[in-house]
Amino acid sequence: MNQQDTMLHITLADGFVRGLLLTATDTVAKAAAIHCASPVATAALGRTLMGTAMLGAMLKQDNASVTVTIDGGGPLGKIVCVADRDSVRGCVDVPQLEMPLRPDGKLNVGMAVGGSGRMSVVKDTGLKTPYVGQTALISGEIAEDFAAYYAESEQTPTLQSLGVLVSGETVLSAGGVLLQTLPGCPDEVISQLELRSPLMSDISRELCYESMEDLMAKWFDGLQPVLLEKTPLSYRCNCSRQRMEKSLIALGQEELTRMIQDETEGADLTCHFCKRQERFTQGDLLKLLNKAMER
Ligand SMILES: [Zn+2]
Repeated sequence: MNQQDTMLHITLADGFVRGLLLTATDTVAKAAAIHCASPVATAALGRTLMGTAMLGAMLKQDNASVTVTIDGGGPLGKIVCVADRDSVRGCVDVPQLEMPLRPDGKLNVGMAVGGSGRMSVVKDTGLKTPYVGQTALISGEIAEDFAAYYAESEQTPTLQSLGVLVSGETVLSAGGVLLQTLPGCPDEVISQLELRSPLMSDISRELCYESMEDLMAKWFDGLQPVLLEKTPLSYRCNCSRQRMEKSLIALGQEELTRMIQDETEGADLTCHFCKRQERFTQGDLLKLLNKAMER
């Protein structure tokens, strides 16, 4: 069932549980197209994009952003995703990686990502010092790694499910669920959620047949689900020529001088997240070198 990418902000059980339900098929399809990603890379990047988008949706400040880096030591390399409240973007080191399927026929995301590294979360809320949280990866399957991050770094018990359904090069559906219990949550509510969590584990397949609203009613029947808000989500980059200039200046005098000497035709810079290219001529680079020297 196709619908525009949307995040549902919900509560359950008189507000003792807060949750996010996300459908993000277009967002993940756009990421896959930009990076020409293989199925396993699409699943790994897509899951991380959705988990990061959920962190972004919980940011309080308008201009805040969150960056998630997953570095599991596997053949896929590093995954980096950045989100604010209604957009997300990301990249992965080896987007064309091919991997044998798992014995159960599913994509082997855990093997591609590797499960021995770290996940880091940096929240930039406009204050001088950004918040930095780091946890060890549990499995590289992404959803349980996000859940471990919430439990360890934010002391919030969390149930997280993230799924991407890929057929060949096509993203059929992508979605995620996040449920967090607040202090004082009755034990019977917690055990109800644990009991029902297997229902939510195959969310991408469920979303092929039912809308998020229908799934919410079905999964949380009897737990007083309340829809607080619906927010849009899209894959969007905020790069600009100005930002690229800043990062070139940040390279420093020595590196810029080397570029001007080596790249007599100038340089093409490509954004990691959206593949947008900007051309900098030798004259442009010289101007930036002057700015770097002024600093
Ligand atoms: Zn970009």
